[in-house]
Amino acid sequence: MIGKECCGLAELLSENKALTWIERDREHMWHHMQPFASSQNPMIVARAERATLYDVEGNAYLDAMSGLWCMNLGYSERALADAAYEQMVTMPYYPLSQSHLKAIEISEKISDWLGGKHHIFLSNSGTEANETALKIARQYHALRGEGTRYKVISRYRAYHGNAGSALAATGQSIRKQNYEPLTPGFLHVPPPYCYRCPFGQKEDSCQLECASYYDQVMTWEGSDTVAAVILEPVITGGGVLVPKPGYLEKVREICDKHGVLMIVDEVICGFYRSGERFGHQNFHVKPDIVTMAKGITSGYLPLAATAVRDEIFNVFKGQGEFTHLRHLNTFGGNPSACAVAAKTLELMEERQIGTRVRALMERMNERLERLRDVPLVGDVRSFGFLAGVELVSNRADKTPLDPTVMGRVLAHCKQRGVIVGRNGDTVPEGNNVLTLSPPFIVTDEELDRIFDAIESALHTVADEYR
Ligand code: PLP
Repeated sequence: MIGKECCGLAELLSENKALTWIERDREHMWHHMQPFASSQNPMIVARAERATLYDVEGNAYLDAMSGLWCMNLGYSERALADAAYEQMVTMPYYPLSQSHLKAIEISEKISDWLGGKHHIFLSNSGTEANETALKIARQYHALRGEGTRYKVISRYRAYHGNAGSALAATGQSIRKQNYEPLTPGFLHVPPPYCYRCPFGQKEDSCQLECASYYDQVMTWEGSDTVAAVILEPVITGGGVLVPKPGYLEKVREICDKHGVLMIVDEVICGFYRSGERFGHQNFHVKPDIVTMAKGITSGYLPLAATAVRDEIFNVFKGQGEFTHLRHLNTFGGNPSACAVAAKTLELMEERQIGTRVRALMERMNERLERLRDVPLVGDVRSFGFLAGVELVSNRADKTPLDPTVMGRVLAHCKQRGVIVGRNGDTVPEGNNVLTLSPPFIVTDEELDRIFDAIESALHTVADEYR
């Protein structure tokens, strides 16, 4: 641990109180993704400052994951809290069947950041943004007299949300077990996973078969049955799977050939995580629909957006009962959330955050390269300022590191005061990818500390493992 710190909440600091919080948590909390029998106590966070979290016992941890890939401007951005408060006392709520000032402001800004005219549907979460996009895609085709187009193609290993169509689009079987059958009409194609190429290709023989595969699926399924493709610029939560150059462009080309809409999920990659405003802007593609959440408010309040190119929006302008988008969201575009989002984008512009992110990317990539020689590391991958470190017990046959040993790596990082993520989320590889997505406000020294902790944890666990 970095050390005990005063968290300013005196009563929380006593050992007894800390125990009480854990007991109370155990009594009433239903944690996300955690088995109840977990032997590990949850980390109960009492406060946070910049990139550092303080638990109820006063221990400090550098958050190398920005919460859940979202706290891009760090934990103590007063201007965001002020924007929320000011809006709350000015006008706390109104539904977006009508309108309000901050919703207009953020919609204009998103459209501007995307380049080209867009209309923006606001909601609360990445899941909802994708649900909205998928409904729009299917209805778009129906309104144009192509109601046979309902299928959606996504990728194995992708994550697009926790419910309904967004979960159906998700390509991680362990997330779906027990909840199927889900929304019908969802197909999956193999991911661009160069370390374990699903097409058995090597670096020099790769012909982007993973992109061409979309063409085959659309042809075999019948182009006139396919509504949309949904994909992230790179698969993030599925283990940071970064395609070779030309992949996204090729998928766009194939979508155009078959009259299929391209939905790009920027829930993680958006808002400078990639070094650009949006992840797809690193490539030469224009999506039809872009979804976003998380970093849009730098994690301070829930907000999500589905941005639709005007050519598509215009198809919904009919006056009939079923020609508009019959889609409602009580809290979507909450005024305070919109105010925080508008302020987030303003701060990012004012501070030229892209320049800082690109400097951080460079430093991170140097440290990532060093990791290649560290025990247990099979592959390192990065996109912008996020990274995945795939761990294996045997480099020659790429045996994924056993889940319990993965757990020990994370525990050792935590003991060294650093919280890293663990992803992959699929069989047969398991969650054997360490993930990093630090806030953009980390200092160079803090970034070094994150990598020092990972290196040291890997050496320790490798020694235990022998
Ligand atoms: N899309 C991607 C790429 C995500 O990573 C996530 C969540 O992690 C989602 C969608 C769903 O977002 P939410 O958890 O806000 O519903």
